[in-house]
Amino acid sequence: MSEQVIKDAIANSKMRCPKCKNAVQKYEKYSETIDAVRDGFNVVEVDSRSSRVTLTCGNGDCDWRERTEYWSEYID
Ligand SMILES: [Zn+2]
Repeated sequence: MSEQVIKDAIANSKMRCPKCKNAVQKYEKYSETIDAVRDGFNVVEVDSRSSRVTLTCGNGDCDWRERTEYWSEYID
């Protein structure tokens, strides 16, 4: 549930823009890579390896925007 973590971090102003240090205003295009294991006829989702998201600062004239899988590093 990484998307919920990102959502909460932005809602609580804990996602920081590395450029201007203000709270990141929005995220988009969240996607996850999920490893699947085939178990007989069933495909079982085992783990969510990484998730990628595009973060947009959106403060004043700051133009910081990044597509990253290391988004957790921007959370306070
Ligand atoms: Zn910024």
